[in-house]
Amino acid sequence: GQNNLNAKLVLLGDMGAGKSSLVIRFVKGQFLEFQESTIGAAFFSQSVSVNNATVKFEIWDTAGQERYHSLAPMYYRGAAAAIIVYDITSSDSFGRAKKWVQELQKQGNPNMVMALAGNKCDLEDKRNVTAEEARIYADENGLFFLETSAKTAVNVNDIFYEIAKRLPRA
Ligand code: GDP
Ligand code: MG
Repeated sequence: GQNNLNAKLVLLGDMGAGKSSLVIRFVKGQFLEFQESTIGAAFFSQSVSVNNATVKFEIWDTAGQERYHSLAPMYYRGAAAAIIVYDITSSDSFGRAKKWVQELQKQGNPNMVMALAGNKCDLEDKRNVTAEEARIYADENGLFFLETSAKTAVNVNDIFYEIAKRLPRA
């Protein structure tokens, strides 16, 4: 009915940024220090309740390696939402996140809700990307931005909840 919505969501970003860890934290409430790399893509589903509605996320966790790049459109095409993940300790991963945003702006669903996740915010002493520069970038590009930690769970449920709130309702 009107109060239930299925939403395809894709996670994109550099290998090692923490995409799988964010999903596993959200879906299972767990964290592994040695998370296995994703091969191709992995599927998860999880529901959240917002304002009397239940949003069932159908989550595609992609691999991130360049050799799987050609598969990415299969996962983001038709997606209602995307989380683009970078690692706050890696400027390269932030650069890679910007490339994903550009690709989604060109080829993705124009109504897609996009979130930028600056992950590993528990590693403050190794930070290489300021929250300020990421926030400015996100504002300029119509994304919403949160720093997250799959390790400590900071802002993990929040990012999915914020997406659920922003999805267009039928
Ligand atoms: P993916 O390739 O983007 O899916 O990244 P993974 O989820 O496989 O994570 C890569 C590595 O970073 C793993 O060793 C994780 O344990 C670690 N990791 C992921 N998220 C965090 C985090 O928020 N904080 C810290 N300290 N490590 C993390
Ligand atoms: Mg992975």
